[in-house]
Amino acid sequence: TAKRAGPGQARLFHERMAQPEKGRLVLEAALYHALVNHEFVLHYQPQVDLATGRITGVEALLRWQSPERGLVSPLEFIPLLEETGLIVPVGEWVLGEACRQSVKWAQAGHHDLRVAVNLSALQFQQPRLAESVAMVIQRSGADPRNIELEITENIAMNQEEEVLDTLQQLRDIGVSLAIDDFGTGYSSLSYLQQFPVNRLKIDQSFVRGPAAGSDLSIARAIVAMGTSLGLEVIAEGVETADQRSRLQECGCSEGQGYHFARPALPEDLAPALAQWR
Ligand code: C2E
Ligand code: MG
Ligand code: MG
Ligand code: MG
Repeated sequence: TAKRAGPGQARLFHERMAQPEKGRLVLEAALYHALVNHEFVLHYQPQVDLATGRITGVEALLRWQSPERGLVSPLEFIPLLEETGLIVPVGEWVLGEACRQSVKWAQAGHHDLRVAVNLSALQFQQPRLAESVAMVIQRSGADPRNIELEITENIAMNQEEEVLDTLQQLRDIGVSLAIDDFGTGYSSLSYLQQFPVNRLKIDQSFVRGPAAGSDLSIARAIVAMGTSLGLEVIAEGVETADQRSRLQECGCSEGQGYHFARPALPEDLAPALAQWR
């Protein structure tokens, strides 16, 4: 997906291209520094009930506020965090921070607001993931029922027993599970049925852009399948009122995208949230 490149991203790209090996080492060190020096921040993007406009949840999206590079997109640095393993401690910070924000929202009267957090494949491979998730949530004082973990289709569909065990352990903590970017990976439909997941997130490519088609036929099929499996379905990348109404016609109940709101800091979301308290 082509994302708008901010000045920070352009510079970061340049850094890696000019002298790939040196650039990489410098970046690695800078990312470690970023974790230690609290340069990571979370922005939150609303998830909205298409019929009423009510905000039912938010997705936490990682940003790097670098003094030298500006605000850097996760697309620019998550691959390197994954290659170096730094995604494990960073991911743990993300979950903890999102949980602390969830507590603040509950205190402000948003008791049922869902807060979704992305988990990377490498985090998922950590032994005792569920224990560490449980501990982070418990320490924060967040209600696990308000926390949702987003995993990608390929993690979820890895047909190993441990994966199923881990997913079940996570559900036992009380968190819900969503499959992110649904439709882009390799799902076995019969497998999906056995999975303890709650929600499918229709990938943006089926909502906007050329692959979506004028009748959103793939989105429609995902909604039909998800609904018949008893899953919630949310569409990502909703950019226009027209897409919103066509998704509603498909029977899709929720959406997320620039049409509703861009990812923003909690204080900037407060007015929109206050409408629904
Ligand atoms: P994702 O989880 O699929 O998140 C959705 C991405 O789509 C976000 O990009 C969001 O800003 C963008 N988006 C939302 N609505 C629209 C829209 O209407 N139009 C367009 N063009 N884009 C839209 P972002 O924040 O750049 O994040 C990119 C990816 O980075 C995420 O995709 C996720 O895979 C990953 N990511 C972000 N934060 C984390 C994190 O804390 N941990 C991990 N492991 N991955 C993360
Ligand atoms: Mg996501
Ligand atoms: Mg997605
Ligand atoms: Mg993604």
